[in-house]
Amino acid sequence: MSEIRHNWTKEQILEIYNKPMMELLYEAATIHRLHHDPNVVQVSTLLSIKTGGCSEDCGYCPQAARYHTNIEGNDLMTVNQVKAQALRAKETGSSRVCMGAAWRNVKDGEEFDQVLEMVRTINKLDMEVCCTLGMVTENQAKRLAEAGLYAYNHNLDSSEEYYKEVISTRGYQDRLDTIDNVRKTNVTVCSGGIIGMGENVEDRAGMLVALSTLSPQPESTPINALVAVEGTPLEDEKPVEIWDMIRMVATTRIVMPETQVRLSAGRTQMSREGQAMCFFAGANSIFAGDKLLTTPNPDVNEDMKMFELLGMNPQKPFTKKVQPQTVEASESEYQALGEKPRWTRPEHKIERNEAAKEQAKAFK
Ligand code: SF4
Repeated sequence: MSEIRHNWTKEQILEIYNKPMMELLYEAATIHRLHHDPNVVQVSTLLSIKTGGCSEDCGYCPQAARYHTNIEGNDLMTVNQVKAQALRAKETGSSRVCMGAAWRNVKDGEEFDQVLEMVRTINKLDMEVCCTLGMVTENQAKRLAEAGLYAYNHNLDSSEEYYKEVISTRGYQDRLDTIDNVRKTNVTVCSGGIIGMGENVEDRAGMLVALSTLSPQPESTPINALVAVEGTPLEDEKPVEIWDMIRMVATTRIVMPETQVRLSAGRTQMSREGQAMCFFAGANSIFAGDKLLTTPNPDVNEDMKMFELLGMNPQKPFTKKVQPQTVEASESEYQALGEKPRWTRPEHKIERNEAAKEQAKAFK
């Protein structure tokens, strides 16, 4: 086994990222084999349980209410709707359901209680449950853990420096504090980011410094390639080159050997050969399902055909960690505290976000 280091510097990560491709691939594939079965891939299904109408200004996101996109918003799904979708995901080989809600942060109340019930329901289907609901307090994280949550997703998105060029309504430290709150429970952490937002290679390395120096490192790290959606501030960004994706995956694998590295948004833009190279470079997880929250994703059958072709098998649930116990709401140790945490609002001006907002006004 190679050691898990928490002291990576940007220079060291850049040196890895910029290695000749064949050396980079060989090193990443070697580390991958020391820590994981290279023929196993973990499959998650992402489910948008509440879509659109979000108050934030994330420059890549079609769900931000302030931009004009073709997203159809939806109120919070019912527990039964979620259960039906989870069963379908289980039948098609997913071991995990990740529920995403377009919220700035979790608020105590009926809707959060409903999400907790969704967590209980899916855990009882013997599937891993993940949530991505925005910022959470320690008490909220504990309530999620008690309901049977397996993982919480909260992406760092980019380096701290470049994050300021993409989002102005919440700060980087809020992201880190949320991860810290999740770490006070036994819920695993899923955190990664997006490439192709106009950042430079130093920013990609900066994001990996922020992730790899967390202790413990995240159990899973999604590497998204931007899907540039019309109406968002990043609509004109060019698609990510497959070689950039491979370099990013390989570098992530080397600096975070134990982490499950997940191919996420942008897979429709990648050929099977490109995806196979990413698996060789150390990716060992994907999001399945025809949609990733709101952007397109390869068909599940296509993914299964690809796995067959590559001789890869979906990972069984709870392979890496035992299934959490679900505590029923009536027996809960934790109460809703009605907290009003002061998550920050830096509110600096990002020109392209302002321009997209102005453009949206013309449609109203
Ligand atoms: S990424 Fe999340 S927080 Fe940001 S606008 Fe989209 S839904 Fe809202």
